[in-house]
Amino acid sequence: MKGKYKGSSILVVGGGISGLIAGQELSALGAQVLLVEKDHFIGGRGARLACKATEHCLKCNKCLVEDTLRLVNEEKPFTIKTLTTVEVLKKHDGGFQALLSTLNPVIDPEKCTNCGECLSACPFKREGAFIVAPSPNMHPFYAIEPKLCRCSETRPCQDACPQGAIDFQKGSSRWTYNCDGIVLASGFKPYDPSNEARYGVGRFRNIITAVDLEQMLRDELAVEPTAGGDRIRVAFVQCVGSRNPRIQRDYCSRVCCGYALRMAFRLLHRQPDLDITFFYMDIQNFGKNFEKYYREAREKIRLVRGLPGDFYGLESGAVRLSLYDAEKGATMVEDFDLVVLSVGIGPNSEEILNVSGSLEIGKNEMGFLTQEGSGQGVVIAGSAQGPMDVSESISSAMAAALQLAQHLGLTKE
Ligand SMILES: Cc1cc2nc3c(=O)[nH]c(=O)nc-3n(C[C@H](O)[C@H](O)[C@H](O)COP(=O)(O)OP(=O)(O)OC[C@H]3O[C@@H](n4cnc5c(N)ncnc54)[C@H](O)[C@@H]3O)c2cc1C
Repeated sequence: MKGKYKGSSILVVGGGISGLIAGQELSALGAQVLLVEKDHFIGGRGARLACKATEHCLKCNKCLVEDTLRLVNEEKPFTIKTLTTVEVLKKHDGGFQALLSTLNPVIDPEKCTNCGECLSACPFKREGAFIVAPSPNMHPFYAIEPKLCRCSETRPCQDACPQGAIDFQKGSSRWTYNCDGIVLASGFKPYDPSNEARYGVGRFRNIITAVDLEQMLRDELAVEPTAGGDRIRVAFVQCVGSRNPRIQRDYCSRVCCGYALRMAFRLLHRQPDLDITFFYMDIQNFGKNFEKYYREAREKIRLVRGLPGDFYGLESGAVRLSLYDAEKGATMVEDFDLVVLSVGIGPNSEEILNVSGSLEIGKNEMGFLTQEGSGQGVVIAGSAQGPMDVSESISSAMAAALQLAQHLGLTKE
């Protein structure tokens, strides 16, 4: 027998791995699911990760995201609206009502065949008018940012498209959606180190964040030497935007030790002659096979306990780091060709809190979303409620979907 509320409608806010898993689970239980994503593409931050495999898989979870995207793309288990933002979420008629705003995509997904002719024809692709999806498991694989397109009357991309899938006149629409339950899966924001001038992000080209390094690894770019030493030296600086009460982030982001060590292994796999130094406070247990990877890290990577205080860009492009070594009672100064800041996981709750005044949603002391009161009919999934990696986000989304299903009386056939 189907659940007695078969046909319940659910709104999922956020198309990262958490929203996608919650959507899958609830639609498998017979609910009608609408997932809204504000970006051009679903997949969230997880889709932007690079695979970290060396000669063996390092369990970075990238393929969990890709498998989910492939399935959602092929089987279309629920409705997805990208470029859609939530303007109001409120209680309504025993359920909920959302006021949504959708920017209709310039490329029609029904007509597009991902041939790429439009991208080849675009004269402004370097200015960001064209966006290429971060994952091969996305359709359409391209998006156009109309605000950054500087063509006037003739649009080469439109002329080049053999399917006639490109239309710049589609505009936007505001609409309401009534539903019985809501999943908030709006994810997190990586810490922005340009908030702290001492890191020199944006001023010194060879100080980058781990988010930038993910992109470099996805693009298969090598670390280049600066005019300095004979070996290429890379530094990872941990706890950037984590465990720091001065910036109101007195918590561990939980994923950074794991992702940074995996990135270091991946870099060494591609460029075995790199010298990698890892500056840290405490190495956090980063899950499955932690002991094995930590042992391997001690063999292949120089682990230095302590975080650099000063970051200087040198004329050569190299970066000079200085660190007070309490044991030696001396300041250590070293130059690196590339410095990677392992940025932490920060809250992304304000947008949701601003539109959901009448729902029982609040934020915890770290700023992440929490349910308040009975919170009936609204659940929070994944990293919207605190730092977690992809596999934890999946478990959290499954638990949130189950909680909502129980509340609505949805059961498996
Ligand atoms: C540098 C870095 C490296 C990492 N490396 C790893 C790794 O190797 N392995 C691992 O397991 N984890 C890693 N993580 C953590 C991983 O990115 C997260 O666990 C995962 O992305 C969480 O998924 P999510 O769906 O909860 O959130 P997100 O990925 O943040 O997705 C949330 C989605 O919601 C959308 N959204 C937000 N607000 C709204 C709104 N108001 N309306 C509509 N849509 C909205 C966003 O656009 C986004 O698409 C890393 C994190 C960082 C910062």
